[in-house]
Amino acid sequence: MTDLLASERLAGLAQAAYIIAGVLFILALAGLSRHETAKRGNVFGMTGMVIALVATVVLALRQTALPGFSSSVPLTLVLIAAPMAVGAVIGIWKARTVQMTGMPELIAVLHSFVGLAAVLVGYNSFLAAGPATHDAGAMGTIHAVEVFLGVFIGAVTLTGSAVAYLKLSAKMRSAPLVLPGRHWLNLAVLLASAGLLVWFVLDDEGAALVPLAVMTVLALWLGFHLVAAIGGGDMPVVVSMLNSYSGWAAAAAGFMLSNDLLIITGSLVGSSGAILSYIMCKAMNRSFVSVIAGGFGSDGVVAGQARDYGEHREVQAGEVAQLLADAKSVVITPGYGMAVAQAQYPVAEMTRKLREKGVEVRFGIHPVAGRLPGHMNVLLAEAKVPYDIVLEMEEINDDFGATDVVLVIGANDTVNPAALEEPGSPIAGMPVLQVWNAKEVIVFKRSMATGYAGVQNPLFFKDNTRMLFGDAKERVEDIVRTV
Ligand code: NDP
Repeated sequence: MTDLLASERLAGLAQAAYIIAGVLFILALAGLSRHETAKRGNVFGMTGMVIALVATVVLALRQTALPGFSSSVPLTLVLIAAPMAVGAVIGIWKARTVQMTGMPELIAVLHSFVGLAAVLVGYNSFLAAGPATHDAGAMGTIHAVEVFLGVFIGAVTLTGSAVAYLKLSAKMRSAPLVLPGRHWLNLAVLLASAGLLVWFVLDDEGAALVPLAVMTVLALWLGFHLVAAIGGGDMPVVVSMLNSYSGWAAAAAGFMLSNDLLIITGSLVGSSGAILSYIMCKAMNRSFVSVIAGGFGSDGVVAGQARDYGEHREVQAGEVAQLLADAKSVVITPGYGMAVAQAQYPVAEMTRKLREKGVEVRFGIHPVAGRLPGHMNVLLAEAKVPYDIVLEMEEINDDFGATDVVLVIGANDTVNPAALEEPGSPIAGMPVLQVWNAKEVIVFKRSMATGYAGVQNPLFFKDNTRMLFGDAKERVEDIVRTV
């Protein structure tokens, strides 16, 4: 067994397995980009991960089997298997119990783990190699830079994701923290970190731990401040941006551990997260740099809040059922409230019944609806709503004028005309679903409360809008019974 493990051939096989896993991860991303292929993409990803894990364990055991290594193969196996078993139990429990509405928070926590791992790998890599690395010529310098950048990105990701978790789970106010001179503070931290990097790389007196530790504290603060300064409606960009950071943190760990697969995987996550952030910024008509620099979003006290928009009108489920039965074309625009209420199943049932009656039913999906990129698409796919009637915002926005009834189910910010009509609004400039152009608009929600961005919605007071109050699932079920 030990001879087999020590053989060069096994190491070669493990490296080949890494390449196969890397290709499978690329196929997974390609598959995940479309509804129809998403399931297949997930299977590719899972297969790649199993191959990667087996290859990594084999490589670790091989290292143990090499002459001069202090641990034994069985001991290494136990040291790997025990934490993996604990992690698997926690992971399976979490995956089975998490509500769809809790997914964004869970993802934020997982990103913070990646950040923490990069910090720990960085310190371990530095302490294991010792200060002597700095005398090791160009390779030593490269390693020192890898360690420093890995710890920096990891620390920013760690606290940034922790703050995102607190904001998304409403344990911390979503309003931006606006410190005086905040951009200068961020710049000062970046400049100080650059200076500390030079000290860290050039140190030859064994004091390199000092700049590393000081930078870690600064980077932890920077992560906290960057995300704390972003408010309300701009959080989608933060979620995808932290996704990207976690990828770069993993890639940095890959460089430190000389693990090619971790570099490939980290780069894939890092670059796909960056592309997603760009798409989210475009969807929200925001400049990427200004969102990252922070301070946008709602502070909860906004211009529209104090304005008197007039009276809203109510409607009952029975009337809505009649309206739908008489309509030729219906568009449903779901939002976060549909996820909270888990209303996607009765919504799918209502859609099926209406289509059977010959009513044209389509869905209009805003790119930042819900609390996760693609949140609504996932829910509708789960409830088996046909893909071809689920349209993107740009595909449907011009059709509202010719639509008889729009059902706004638990959406608020994404259908708010203030984004187009009130330049002072915190969501000003964000493209929205222009549902008010339809003949009739029915808004499903429980109260007149604001959405995530904390902005009042003039749509609720328009002449062609009526409010259907109550839990979205119960109200849609009422309609399904009558329609
Ligand atoms: P909003 O968060 O603007 O509004 C959701 C509405 O759903 C609320 O007004 C709420 O009103 C209603 N609601 C909640 N629970 C229920 C229920 N059980 N039944 C019926 N209604 C319910 O949702 P949108 O999807 O329109 O907008 C998403 C917002 O989240 C945007 O501001 C976006 O920027 C932000 N965001 C998006 C992320 C993403 O990646 N997609 C990530 C982070 C933030 P009431 O309480 O009265 O019922």
